[in-house]
Amino acid sequence: MFEYAPAPESRAVVDIAPSYGLFIDGEFAPAASSGGVFKTVNPATEEVLSEVSTAGPEDVDRAVAAARRAFGSWSALPGAERAKYLFRIARIIQERSRELAVLESLDNGKPIRESRDVDLPLVAAHFFYYAGWADKLRYAGFGDDPRPLGVAAQVIPWNFPLLMLAWKIAPALATGNTVVLKPAETTPLSALFFADVCRQADLPPGVVNIVTGAGDTGRTLVEHPGVDKVAFTGSTEVGRQIARSVAGTRKRLTLELGGKAANIVFDDAPIDQAVEGIVNGIFFNQGHVCCAGSRLLVQESVAEELLDSLKRRMATLRVGDPLDKNTDIGAINSAEQLERIRTLSDIGAEEGAERWSPPCTLPAQGYWFAPTIFTGVTQAHRIAREEIFGPVLSVLTFRTPAEAIEKANNTPYGLSAGIWSDKGSQVLAVADKLRAGVVWANTFNKFDPTSPFGGYKESGYGREGGRHGLEAYLA
Ligand code: NDP
Repeated sequence: MFEYAPAPESRAVVDIAPSYGLFIDGEFAPAASSGGVFKTVNPATEEVLSEVSTAGPEDVDRAVAAARRAFGSWSALPGAERAKYLFRIARIIQERSRELAVLESLDNGKPIRESRDVDLPLVAAHFFYYAGWADKLRYAGFGDDPRPLGVAAQVIPWNFPLLMLAWKIAPALATGNTVVLKPAETTPLSALFFADVCRQADLPPGVVNIVTGAGDTGRTLVEHPGVDKVAFTGSTEVGRQIARSVAGTRKRLTLELGGKAANIVFDDAPIDQAVEGIVNGIFFNQGHVCCAGSRLLVQESVAEELLDSLKRRMATLRVGDPLDKNTDIGAINSAEQLERIRTLSDIGAEEGAERWSPPCTLPAQGYWFAPTIFTGVTQAHRIAREEIFGPVLSVLTFRTPAEAIEKANNTPYGLSAGIWSDKGSQVLAVADKLRAGVVWANTFNKFDPTSPFGGYKESGYGREGGRHGLEAYLA
C-alpha cells in the first residue's frame, strides 16, 4: 500500500467572526433575552470557532413576529417572483460553495470530500429544484389554488446542517411561507452564513429568521402560538415530545426521525459492489445519518466471503483531519455523541457480539471513533435495535428472502433500506415487502431533490423532497 501525502483544503477561504447574534427581520443582533452565549467548537481539534447567542422566549417572539409581518407580502408575490429569489440563493450558494463546504467541515467534523461533493451540491440543487415549483403550484396536484400555511417553525439536527436547512427552507419559501429556523447547538455556523446569503440575495426582511440556541430554544419555537407549521428532523425522543406539544393545536407537523436501516445482500449480488455500498451506507458522514445502513443482513452462503472483503476495504479507510481531501472518515460531531457511540458499542461487546476495527491511529485531540463492525449479532442485541448514529455496523445473517424481510422489518423504525441482488425480480419483490420510506437497489445513500424522503412507524411522518415535499407547506 502506498502512502498519501497530506492534501489539506485551505481554511483561509472562510472568515468566521468571533461572535454571532441572531438573524431576525433581516438583521443580525444580540439576543435580547438573558440566555447568554454558547461556544461552537471544531470537533476535530476542540478549538473554539465562535460564540453564538442563545435565543430566549423574547427573541423567539420577535422572530415569529417578523416572519408574520413578512408573510403578507411574501405570500402575495407571484410564484415567478418568489422563484427569482430562490434561484438567486441557489446561485450564491454555488458561488460560495467552497467557503461553505470548509465552514461545514470545521463546525461539523465531516470530511471536506463529502461537504464539497455531496452536501453543497445538494443544497444548491434543492433551491434550484423548489425555485422551479414556485410558479407551478397549481399544477402540483394539490388543488387549483393551493395556499401557504403561514409561519413555519423549523428545527434541524447537526448531521447535515446546511442540507437539512435547505430541505426545510426551500419548499417553505417556494410555497409562500415564511420561516423561523433553529439549527443544532453544535453546528449553528452554516445557518448563520446562510442568513448572510439571504441578505446578499436581497430576500425581504423577515422571510427567513435564524434563532440559535439549545433544545430550550427549539421547544420555545415549536410551542409558540404564532407558528402555523412545525417541521422537525432529529431524534425520535424529541420528535415524540414535539408531537405531544403540537397535538390539539391547529399547527401542521412533519417529523423526520431516527432509523435502523437494513442493508440486505443476497448471494447473487456482486460482492465488490455491495462492499462499496455497505461502506458508503454506514461510514459516510461518520454514520451520523438517519438513513444509514446500520444493519447489514447478509445471506449466509456468502457471509464469509463478503466479510473478508469488507474488512480488507475497511482497512483502507482513512480516518483523520476533515479538511484533508484524502480523508474518508472525519470527527464525531460532539463529546456527547462520542460517548453515546462508545456506550452502545461497549454494550454490543458485553452482550456477546464480536467487535472488529481495522488498525488505525486516531488523533489525540478531538472526538474520534474507528470504523467498527460487530458480527454474531442477533435481533435481541441492543446494537441491532437502537440507533447508534456512528460508524458502527451490526452484521446479521439470513438464509431465505422471507427471513431477510422479516428481520429487516423487525424494528420500530422504517426510514430506509438497501437491497443487493443481480435479479431485478428479487429486488422488486423484496422492496415491495419492506416497511421503509426509501429502498435503494444496488446502491445506497443516493439523494436527489426530486425524490421524496421520509419514514414509516417511529421514523416519523410526512415527506420532504420532490413534489410530495410541497404538500407539507400547503393548505
Ligand atoms: P435531538 O433530537 O435532541 O436534536 C435535534 C434538534 O432538536 C436540535 O436542534 C436540538 O437542539 C433540538 N431540540 C432538542 N430538544 C428539543 C425540544 N424539546 N424541542 C424542540 N427542539 C429540541 O438530537 P441530539 O442532537 O440530542 O442527538 C441524540 C440522538 O438522536 C443521536 O444520537 C441520534 O441517535 C439521534 N439523531 C437522529 C437524527 C436523525 O436525523 N434521525 C439527527 C440527530 C440526532 P440542540 O442541538 O441544542 O440539542
